Amino acid sequence: MSFREIFCQDKPIALLAQAFALDRVAHATIFSGMEGVGKFKTASEWARLLLCHEPRAPAVQGPNESCGRCASCCAWEGGTHPDFHHVYKELRQFTADGKGKPAPVDLPIDVIREFLIERVASRPTLSARKIFVVDEAEKLNTSSQNALLKVLEEPPGYCCIILLCTRLEKLLPTIKSRTQVVRFGPIDEARVVDHLRRKGLEDFKALFFARLAQGSLGLADQWGALEAAEGRLYDTKRRIVAGMARLQLADTLDFAGQLLDDAKALSESWAGLGGLTSRADLNRRSQKTIVRILVSSLDDVMKLPLGLDRRPVNADQWDCIEALACRIGPEQAAARIVDGYESMQWIEAGVNDRLNLERLLLKIVKGM
Ligand SMILES: [Zn+2]
Repeated sequence: MSFREIFCQDKPIALLAQAFALDRVAHATIFSGMEGVGKFKTASEWARLLLCHEPRAPAVQGPNESCGRCASCCAWEGGTHPDFHHVYKELRQFTADGKGKPAPVDLPIDVIREFLIERVASRPTLSARKIFVVDEAEKLNTSSQNALLKVLEEPPGYCCIILLCTRLEKLLPTIKSRTQVVRFGPIDEARVVDHLRRKGLEDFKALFFARLAQGSLGLADQWGALEAAEGRLYDTKRRIVAGMARLQLADTLDFAGQLLDDAKALSESWAGLGGLTSRADLNRRSQKTIVRILVSSLDDVMKLPLGLDRRPVNADQWDCIEALACRIGPEQAAARIVDGYESMQWIEAGVNDRLNLERLLLKIVKGM
């Protein structure tokens, strides 16, 4: 891995490279941007560079790179670097009081206390710096943020904290004022399509998933992996979009039930692919995928007056989008898209899945 292998993030990488060249590396940084655009990959490369004993000068243009040979780089390759700390919510099961507790929805204070604050206090052992990468910082609850704030007020000189965050507004202003914010933009559609094609997806499927992902290579990759393995997600989406086009008030609860079954099946399939993601997270991911597909059909309706030039997500089911547009106007569609995003936040917050979905569908059907 190298900075060169990270897609479409030249600006944030250039910013980091400049800080490194000028020896002005911030003690606390927020990598802000949507899910799946390379924030963690960049943080990993950045950490490896900051920890390296003999960083290499940049090529003609571009950032310094870690040497790949020093004791730090070797420890990094082995995944055992003592000065690199990845902090994420699932660590709760390894905290003093967390054994046997279910996977948390938020990032609890126990994790921040035991895996960050207590470890910040001791000096690095192999490198000149000690790096903490905090995943899903938008899920830090208020007590976790307040605890973190104490470290950010007076960070030790060797300490470097990177918060990966998809929703900057969730962080306290006092946290933001003490950190450097580095923004990550969406990935170009052509790059995402190309990535999905390489995974073996046909062109029309690659295009659909790339547009559904709206610039998140990570999301497109999750969907692409599932489609390449089972080939069912795309069929599910076709059924959902067709169902939206003929949705009636009397069928709403049945439709919600069918969508929940679809989400369950997706979750099972993802679990079958392996990986470290908890079952609760896979359930949330599946439900959000279903809601995203619903929202994509409304999004196409909203843009329909602008024609096919606006790159509709469901160009492959244009007849359904036109049928849906006869039943819901662009303004109503826009309002229901907002409801859809709210519903996705509730999925993250662990609200009852059936109630959440039924409420969303009822709002959509009443807007027809
Ligand atoms: Zn090195």
